[in-house]
Amino acid sequence: MVENVFKNLRWLGHDAFLLRAGGKNIYFDPFKLGTGLPSADIICVSHEHYDHCSPADVRMIQQPSTLIVAEAKAAAQLKGKIMILTPGERREVEGIVIEAVPAYNTNKLFHPQSNRWLGFILTVDGVRVYHAGDTDYIPEMKDIRADIALLPVSGTYVMTAEEAAQAAIAVGAKIAVPMHYGAVVGTTDDADRFAATLAGRVRVEILGRG
Ligand code: ZN
Ligand code: ZN
Repeated sequence: MVENVFKNLRWLGHDAFLLRAGGKNIYFDPFKLGTGLPSADIICVSHEHYDHCSPADVRMIQQPSTLIVAEAKAAAQLKGKIMILTPGERREVEGIVIEAVPAYNTNKLFHPQSNRWLGFILTVDGVRVYHAGDTDYIPEMKDIRADIALLPVSGTYVMTAEEAAQAAIAVGAKIAVPMHYGAVVGTTDDADRFAATLAGRVRVEILGRG
């Protein structure tokens, strides 16, 4: 099950992913998208920062029926069918369960907890896919269960690679995928350190872009 969902996951750079599951095209944080991508059924936008909430990129993949799931500040920048979520909320959309979970900083000020910005857990074909958004390693992760975990590793605005490795263990990931490097901040060295820290403990897949 996990393998079937994982093979339909594409990294589009930074925090942007396309997951094809349950007959749907689901995007996370579309940013600097290439051309030729399929139209979106669901777009999850974690928070209002420009490298996560990009109205121009959303428009590239949006169709009238596309559902955007976002926190309030990001939603205010976007148009169309929009569902605003706050951490702890859960909705079912056409057979896909979407849970909004907290994402915030503990030792820096870029993502205050009071902003109520988001990570997402989508349950597709019985598999829980966690896109952590911009976050540090936070206590709430101990209550998160994820089969596939997409975790930021760049440090500076988010977790370091070593902290992200702790997060992967905390959520019980069967497959952990590093993100939030190679575009705005962070390098492949961060992804490699993430993989090295988890060696023998959690399977890490460093995806190629595209
Ligand atoms: Zn951010
Ligand atoms: Zn970011």
